[in-house]
Amino acid sequence: MLEAKVYIVGAGPGDPELITVKGQNILKQADVILFTDSLVNEQLMEVAKSDAQVLKSAGMNLEELVDCMVTNVKQGRSVARVHTGDPSVYGAILEQMRYLKRANVDYEIIPGVSSVFAAAAAAQIELTVPELTQTVILTRAEGRTPMPEREQLKDLASHHSSTCLFLSATLIKKVVREFLEAGWLETDPVVVVYRASWPDQKVVKTTLGQLDETMRSEGIRKQAMVIISKAANEQLLMEEGKYESKLYDKSFTHGYRIGESVNG
Ligand code: SAH
Repeated sequence: MLEAKVYIVGAGPGDPELITVKGQNILKQADVILFTDSLVNEQLMEVAKSDAQVLKSAGMNLEELVDCMVTNVKQGRSVARVHTGDPSVYGAILEQMRYLKRANVDYEIIPGVSSVFAAAAAAQIELTVPELTQTVILTRAEGRTPMPEREQLKDLASHHSSTCLFLSATLIKKVVREFLEAGWLETDPVVVVYRASWPDQKVVKTTLGQLDETMRSEGIRKQAMVIISKAANEQLLMEEGKYESKLYDKSFTHGYRIGESVNG
């Protein structure tokens, strides 16, 4: 039995098998389920109890949404609020939590597989390659939501880390400009993943110089993850011995294994 509170559940990127076991158990038991119908796969709701109330939230404003959650919890029902990917990235959960806190309604967050990781999996890349890049930046291009002054893309790009861009498919020209200004090359690799983990998923490998044209010719304008990363270079697969992790190195000792001495 679930408690009468709000469960903020990460639905994963699209494939209904990519929700967590915990998230799915909540969907099986919740009295009320609220999901963003434009982004969350409706198939996930097939496990709901036959008497559960399953509501689409796309047409609701924040107040209606939160009122619905508060009223149901106060009447003793459990509510699952389902978000795409992981709720903590561009999930707009802060304002929901504020309302709930003010109304004295408890909530719990269940993480999900973010689209950034589904995209990396689809593109078959490791985002953190030793001696190439050990940092992943999750960000977006500046659109209607202004970027904080110290997070301008140009500045973030200057680190030459793996950069994963959410919500940026229509702002690509600006992205490319800022990366080139930061010293990236037109030949540097980029992977665009459209609707990662959905049946119509598309993985497009390109370069910074070709990115705008590629997105245009592929018709990708939304639901895309743009990964700009030196690690997205397929050539790396051929470079035996280079950029390998020390973790599996025979001579490397760590907590779980004692390395062989180089001289035998
Ligand atoms: N919380 C979500 C992100 C929501 S913001 C998460 O963790 O994934 C919405 C943006 O996420 C989209 O503009 C797109 O950049 C990205 N996105 C969401 N689902 C996606 C998918 N299946 N494939 C590629 N990108 C996706």
